[in-house]
Amino acid sequence: MSSSASASAAKVLESEQRAATMIVPGPILLLGAPGVGKGTQAKELVRLWGIPQISTGDLLRANVAQGTGLGKVAKEIMQRGELVPDSLVNEMVAVRMQESDTVNGYILDGFPRTIAQSHWLDGRLASQTETLPVVAVSIQVDYNQLLRRITGRRNCPVCQRIYNIYSNPPQRAGFCDVEGAPLAQRADDTEKVFAERMRAYAAQTTPVVEHYRELGRFAEVVGDGPIAAIAAGIVAAVERLRSERS
Ligand code: AMP
Repeated sequence: MSSSASASAAKVLESEQRAATMIVPGPILLLGAPGVGKGTQAKELVRLWGIPQISTGDLLRANVAQGTGLGKVAKEIMQRGELVPDSLVNEMVAVRMQESDTVNGYILDGFPRTIAQSHWLDGRLASQTETLPVVAVSIQVDYNQLLRRITGRRNCPVCQRIYNIYSNPPQRAGFCDVEGAPLAQRADDTEKVFAERMRAYAAQTTPVVEHYRELGRFAEVVGDGPIAAIAAGIVAAVERLRSERS
């Protein structure tokens, strides 16, 4: 595509996104295997919709870094790629959902991950009559691509920018382009832990996908392609699900 054609395609995409973001998004679940890009897409949706991302992985890592009681329990479980007990994660989400920035909705990223967590969430939202029902969007990417995404992922500990040594390397290997800081790798982004996280996903999160599919509050988007195009697909899916239910 020529540069003027791609610039006008980008403009069309931007205006479509602007039109699609006129809705009140309400609570959104981003589902998908580890590495499908839930975090990246959540950040894009935060920018488009002005609602917060609630990432249970990020909240747990912050607890680990601060050495809280929850962090001490979660640390080893997370290092093995297993799931932190539902009651602890639910309580952490309950506290975050009460903050005032959630009135127009929020993007749950990495939660619910078990059917018990989804029943807890459904019950909680059903008791809040002023809140829209949750809608779920699952991002699909094939296994081998996920493995490269996960094992190649690096982040800057200063500005949190995310790189990938295969698909989006920094200019100087091992260092952040902006901060110059040495890049870090998450302890659970190794191939062995990835395999365990995929096993946990298949066993425990597939029923969550089926649950929201059965409720008719579910859509799937392909997670392979430019970030903005995937985000546009998610926005369109949420708008469709919301209009079907109004
Ligand atoms: P993530 O960054 O979403 O891949 O999460 C990293 C790790 O945090 C997972 O492998 C789990 O050990 C833990 N974790 C995150 N979200 C949840 C959740 N909803 N339930 C249980 N454990 C979680």
